[in-house]
Amino acid sequence: MTVYAGAVFDMAVRQFGVIADHLSIPMDERERILMPKRAITISCPVHRDDGSIAVFEGYRVQHHLTLGPTKGGTRFAPCVDIGEVAALAIWMSWKCALVGLPYGGAKGGVSVDPQSLSMRELEGLSRRYMQEMIPFVGPHTDVMAPDMGTNEQVMAWFMDTYSMYQGRTVTEIVTGKPVSTGGTLGRREATGRGVAHLVRRVMKERDIAFGGATAVVQGFGNVGSQAALELYNSGVRIIAVSDHTGALHDSKGLDIPGLLRHTGTQGSLAGYSNQLSYDPAAILTLPCDVLVPAAVERVIDARVAENLKCRVLAEGANGPTTPEADLILETRQDEIFLIPDILCNSGGVVVSYFEWVQGLQQLFWEEDQVTRREYQILDRAFGQMVERAKRDGISHRTAAMTLGVEKVRSAKAKRGLFP
Ligand code: GLU
Repeated sequence: MTVYAGAVFDMAVRQFGVIADHLSIPMDERERILMPKRAITISCPVHRDDGSIAVFEGYRVQHHLTLGPTKGGTRFAPCVDIGEVAALAIWMSWKCALVGLPYGGAKGGVSVDPQSLSMRELEGLSRRYMQEMIPFVGPHTDVMAPDMGTNEQVMAWFMDTYSMYQGRTVTEIVTGKPVSTGGTLGRREATGRGVAHLVRRVMKERDIAFGGATAVVQGFGNVGSQAALELYNSGVRIIAVSDHTGALHDSKGLDIPGLLRHTGTQGSLAGYSNQLSYDPAAILTLPCDVLVPAAVERVIDARVAENLKCRVLAEGANGPTTPEADLILETRQDEIFLIPDILCNSGGVVVSYFEWVQGLQQLFWEEDQVTRREYQILDRAFGQMVERAKRDGISHRTAAMTLGVEKVRSAKAKRGLFP
């Protein structure tokens, strides 16, 4: 029996099953690799502005401790539960191992709609969450970062709260901080930049000219908006975008810098233009060259997968494609080039690693150095994935996850089982 439940956790289990079968991992070894090492559940009481008290449930799951500290974001979203957080922690492990970072995976979350909180309430929740986690985290134990619903400001509050309890400033406790508080140049843009970098690489390899190409981006948070901007700056026409408030579509191409200015002040796409408003459910199946799902999990199910009309599927989100959809994508591999999530969005954690290293060394890098080294790591992992997929006759997702799982497995084998 396990406490982890739900469709997202089941998905992580099923995906691992595919990899374990492919690698012929003996049954008794599977659980050791898959099941999270630690899971923490807390309640976070917060003073509301009206004088009442609200209590929010929070989680942190640390998947494995084999390669170093655990690493992963903290998500503030209404439907967060421990099963989802565990799945996201497991995916972080394969992601970090695939790109060669000395981390295990972790993820945290609070079940809250951050939009329903005032700035003061959000600060109270962020600080209380970190305070409750102090016994379980540390710069060499578990390092948090932003995820859906959290941002640089929340990371600054996390860092400040941890530091106040230590009696000294510990910038290395979180990544994705503002540059003014020890963050790195290029972290905010890192995930979206990485997505766009890999998309451009695939487009070049497939002879898709940037100028004539079109892209659809689902999700206009940090990842989706930056990926859209990068592609827009490369000359790609972004014909549709969406967020939780709706979608916009313009076959002539949307003004992405204008949309970023709008979301920067208004917080969402809502109110941008009535004329361009479009059905958010239909955005994924619009004909386009590049589709970037950069929102939530499980949006590409079997039905959507059958109807996709893109040539490159770049998974900016974690877990956007269900295992049923994967089976369909495998039959469409010649038409649709999949850049799986654990590679596609790994630029974020790669630059988090750079931020952590810079914080530990108190030696800071120029932005072009950050981005150049990010792309170098992504290119290496991309090459390894494509080669492995060809060699073993497997999908890109299976190849990427196999590379990640293999590294964790071999480190566990070499270290041995204690006691
Ligand atoms: N939350 C991001 C992810 O899912 C970033 C994690 C990190 O930077 O540690 O990859």
